[in-house]
Amino acid sequence: MPQSDHRKTVFSGIQPSGLVHIGNYLGAIRNWATMLDDYDCIFCVVDLHAMTVPYEPGEMMQRIRDALLVNMAAGLDPERCTLFVQSHVPEHAELAWILGTCAPFGELARMTQFKEKSEQHRDQVNCGLFSYPVLMAADILLYKAEVVPVGEDQSQHLEFAREVCRAFNSRFGETFPEPQPYHGPVMRLLGLEGKAKMSKSLNNYIALLAEPEEISSLLQTAATDPARVRRNDPGTPQLCNIHTMHLGFSSAEDLSWCEEGCRTAGIGCLECKERLAQNMIRELTPVREKYRSYASKPDYVEDVMRRGAAVCRERAERTMEEVRRKVGIR
Ligand code: SF4
Repeated sequence: MPQSDHRKTVFSGIQPSGLVHIGNYLGAIRNWATMLDDYDCIFCVVDLHAMTVPYEPGEMMQRIRDALLVNMAAGLDPERCTLFVQSHVPEHAELAWILGTCAPFGELARMTQFKEKSEQHRDQVNCGLFSYPVLMAADILLYKAEVVPVGEDQSQHLEFAREVCRAFNSRFGETFPEPQPYHGPVMRLLGLEGKAKMSKSLNNYIALLAEPEEISSLLQTAATDPARVRRNDPGTPQLCNIHTMHLGFSSAEDLSWCEEGCRTAGIGCLECKERLAQNMIRELTPVREKYRSYASKPDYVEDVMRRGAAVCRERAERTMEEVRRKVGIR
């Protein structure tokens, strides 16, 4: 697990959502895994963030462990990056409070995610949900991270973190580098019905740990280009979510086979889906096996969390000593 070094520091949060699907894998985890050697990567299971919407306390520890296990199995090798749990480093909350005093209220009130989530959980709109982006700014700035991988959902929050960073530096003196967004290859996967983004809440997903039979059967019923009503109707692969999944899981050769076959009606949709299922199963089987292997070693997982927290606490404390001095409370 590398300490701070000459490489740029990357910070990213992992939601303990209780389920990881192939959209999360293609859109985030697989990209993060490619950064491990070139960056000093810190990945944090953001349990404090997860408390801003209604949840079952008895399930939270399991969700935290599971998020860690799935992400490790999907490529976040704990020996090549730092993995830890947000609440194990209390400085996140302390810095969030201090940054909150530099955060423009009007900007926070404009955050799309706050509006959406407060709409979804009308009877539980809390201050934590409102100030979620301040805590996210603290997560990043605490480690003086220079690079933050963001999907489109998080870019508004990162922009806010950059603004808070500038506000703090200008009021108290240069302290934090302004974090830059990192955009990996964009892969926006729709759900199996081919309309909305793949998500747990819409139940339109393929779980990353799905068994091969489940993958095949879910793909069989997945939506395709509606223009292909009959087997000999040509289609437009770019309008089909199965094609997007081929982009994520298939070789260049299979991709050309899908595109050519679709345009010319040389292949049927079932054939196209079967090839995709084979490729998806080939890539995800080792992930499932690794998950099981990690799950059978709870002591190792505990150790990963402990080591991660120790490294991060030390780094966080260094930052906080500087911050406390600069804001005048030491
Ligand atoms: S052939 Fe493949 S890419 Fe074309 S519409 Fe059917 S499933 Fe989609």
